[in-house]
Amino acid sequence: MSLLSVANLDASYGKGLVLNNVSIEVPKGKIVTVLGSNGAGKTTLLNVICGQLRGLSGSIVFDGEDISKIKQHEAAIKGMAVSPEGRKLFAEMTVYENLRMGGFVLPNYSKVRSQAAVVMELFPRIKERLNQRVSTMSGGEQQMVAIGRALMMEPKLLILDEPTLGLAPKLIVEIGKIIKNISDAGVSVLLVEQNAQLALRLADYGYVLETGVVRLEGPASDLLSNDEVRKVYLGA
Ligand code: ATP
Repeated sequence: MSLLSVANLDASYGKGLVLNNVSIEVPKGKIVTVLGSNGAGKTTLLNVICGQLRGLSGSIVFDGEDISKIKQHEAAIKGMAVSPEGRKLFAEMTVYENLRMGGFVLPNYSKVRSQAAVVMELFPRIKERLNQRVSTMSGGEQQMVAIGRALMMEPKLLILDEPTLGLAPKLIVEIGKIIKNISDAGVSVLLVEQNAQLALRLADYGYVLETGVVRLEGPASDLLSNDEVRKVYLGA
């Protein structure tokens, strides 16, 4: 059964369609990836899904409910958390303060504390640096805080926009393991990545978006061996 079902979505910033009849599914407990080059419409798709941008037409059903007309904070309350491209952290606040901001949907402070403990389990590096200002951390650590902040919402679906962008290879591997652990803990994941190799190794299913249209889709293992994907996205 799908946790998220996006059907026939169109979106535009004014002139011309940036998303054209896009349909994707995220089954419960799975990792689904959306690949595509710069400007393909990946971030726009995520923005429409999470309620930051209104689609022109199409439907978005999340956990059995049509959410195509709701706002982002309402989607968050329903269990959809986003770790945005570029992280968008509160750089002059500490790690713990950033995590607390993510916990805004939780019912009380005791829940915030227990969820922070869950997040720290996943990110031992964060645990050691709770009182550190985010602006003084490395890019990889900041990315962990951004994912951790999203997980503070105790989401059913975690949406990750380019979590490995600009990171060193060692950290990319570490972020990959963390995404796998998050999925193993029962959270469904929608992953947008330019690093197709990593994304397809992690994901169960993938979509290739080109100029706002889904050009290819299939089990991630099939896409990994697809000639077109190999040539365009894997440099093979
Ligand atoms: P990237 O990997 O570079 O972030 P992307 O696949 O996420 O690319 P989008 O950011 O969704 O692509 O952009 C899709 C198209 O929409 C591009 O042509 C982009 O220039 C345009 N676009 C994105 N945001 C806006 C905006 N706020 N106003 C107008 N056009 C926009």
